[in-house]
Amino acid sequence: MARLALVGTILILVTIPVGLLAHFYLPPFLTEEMPRPELPRLEPFTPPLEGGPEGENRGVQPPIPLPDGVVTRLDTAEPVVALTFDDGPDPLFTPRLLEILRGEGVAATFFVIANRAAARPDLVRQMLADGHEVGNHTLSHARLTDLPELVVRHEILEAQRVLETITGERARLFRPPYGRINEAIFRMAKEEAGLTTVMWSVDSRDWEGISAREIREKVLANLAPGSIILMHCAGGVSEGFTSTLEALPSILEALRSRGYRPVTLGNALGE
Ligand SMILES: [Zn+2]
Repeated sequence: MARLALVGTILILVTIPVGLLAHFYLPPFLTEEMPRPELPRLEPFTPPLEGGPEGENRGVQPPIPLPDGVVTRLDTAEPVVALTFDDGPDPLFTPRLLEILRGEGVAATFFVIANRAAARPDLVRQMLADGHEVGNHTLSHARLTDLPELVVRHEILEAQRVLETITGERARLFRPPYGRINEAIFRMAKEEAGLTTVMWSVDSRDWEGISAREIREKVLANLAPGSIILMHCAGGVSEGFTSTLEALPSILEALRSRGYRPVTLGNALGE
């Protein structure tokens, strides 16, 4: 019995210091800084379109009849047209588009997505500095007609707040993503945010991935005094707008030769 007690005591006396040593001593290979992999250089983040690419959403839009009060063309017999560019800003296409418009001395209206604006506020400020107008195209480009009232309100009002933070002024124009609107959404935009809803009368269909020549033909074939022309300066995942950039100079040239003058929507609507 006494021997057993002695063995136990020895075991305890050996175990405690070994345990302490193991606890405080870490071998060098565990404490050395591990080599870290190089991080890839990332493009500035462009949030995706919440409701998916334009091409997957536009089969039956815009709805007919539209709510009373939605603007689809400028009420004028003057040879003026309004160029509108949706879904920006993005770091890829928007800066090149701004450069073309700057070079041509033409002002347009940009319906921007507020979460994209928050990712690249510099591009939104550049739009204003270049004399363009900035309109509300919701917070995340969601399909408003599929959403509960509370979420629709958030999409519109939060976009207003974000845009005002960036630009210092309240947006006055609203365009619903995919042209999806109904009476309740129209009234909410008007009564709660003071927004005029503007659609378009000429769709360039540049979101279909067509060529620059086809875009040009679609725009010019449907032109009339007061036309509101829909184009894009950014899009969904895998949607490119190189054709829009290619088509734009020759569209502007054709407008000039036909005597049309591009105007911004807010000015033309007296907003
Ligand atoms: Zn859009």
